[in-house]
Amino acid sequence: MDVSFAGKRALVTGAGKGIGRDMALALARCGAKVTAVTRTQADLNSLVQECASISPVCVDLADWGATEVALQDVGPIDLLVNNAACASLQPFLEVTPDQFDQSFNVNVKAVLHVSQIVARGMKARGSGGSIVNVSSQASQRALRDHTVYCATKGALDMLTKVMALELGPHQIRVNSVNPTVVMTDMGRLGWSDPEKAKPMLFRIPLGRFAEVEDVVNTILFLLSDKSNMINGVTLPVDGGFLAC
Ligand code: NDP
Repeated sequence: MDVSFAGKRALVTGAGKGIGRDMALALARCGAKVTAVTRTQADLNSLVQECASISPVCVDLADWGATEVALQDVGPIDLLVNNAACASLQPFLEVTPDQFDQSFNVNVKAVLHVSQIVARGMKARGSGGSIVNVSSQASQRALRDHTVYCATKGALDMLTKVMALELGPHQIRVNSVNPTVVMTDMGRLGWSDPEKAKPMLFRIPLGRFAEVEDVVNTILFLLSDKSNMINGVTLPVDGGFLAC
């Protein structure tokens, strides 16, 4: 996408693999100074090898205290992508408290926490900013074996809207993208079995899953000033799945 983030500072969570990794690289290519946050050091090492200007931060975002410490020195941030999430699939009747807590800690609580840290700085500087939360089509449609994941993404959509309401007066825009299946590690977990993938593909009018690039380009748009009047939306990147 033809946007420049020269002079902007960006933070991407879950930047070690999948969508988050390509997101961090795309922002760096567009001129942003990028801080990449994830919990596996080896992923950060290879990311910095690929793009030396990226600043790595290794932390488990499920740990509130460790996150507070890890992010205390990242400095001012103009653009935030809350991308990190986990998915553990099981039938509704088999969901355990641990699976529930782990998923809500990463997919919802950490988004709130990282956004608080970043938005406090944006507000204090009066510089505004843009935050994109990576949600899912699963926030708005029931998917078999996805009880906890669907619930976290439903909560994330509502969190996005309240953040947009409260941060808007400080010129901080908050939106989400809601992709369909993307064949990353997480996507393969749920959809690599052709028997499961086929009915899902059938429900997507464009007849294909999303590519990482489809999601990254949409986030670049929402972060950029080309979307200056867009605030509080949950934007499907789903080939029409949620329209039907
Ligand atoms: P991946 O599993 O490929 O990558 C997730 C990244 O987040 C990894 O680098 C992972 O690190 C990191 N991460 C996970 N938990 C933590 C944690 N506790 N602390 C720090 N980092 C963490 O996922 P995707 O790229 O597929 O997903 C990215 C986003 O897109 C997620 O929000 C997901 O819900 C959403 N999404 C994905 C879809 C898909 O089909 N793939 C569809 C719709 C939405 P590590 O590997 O070390 O755990």
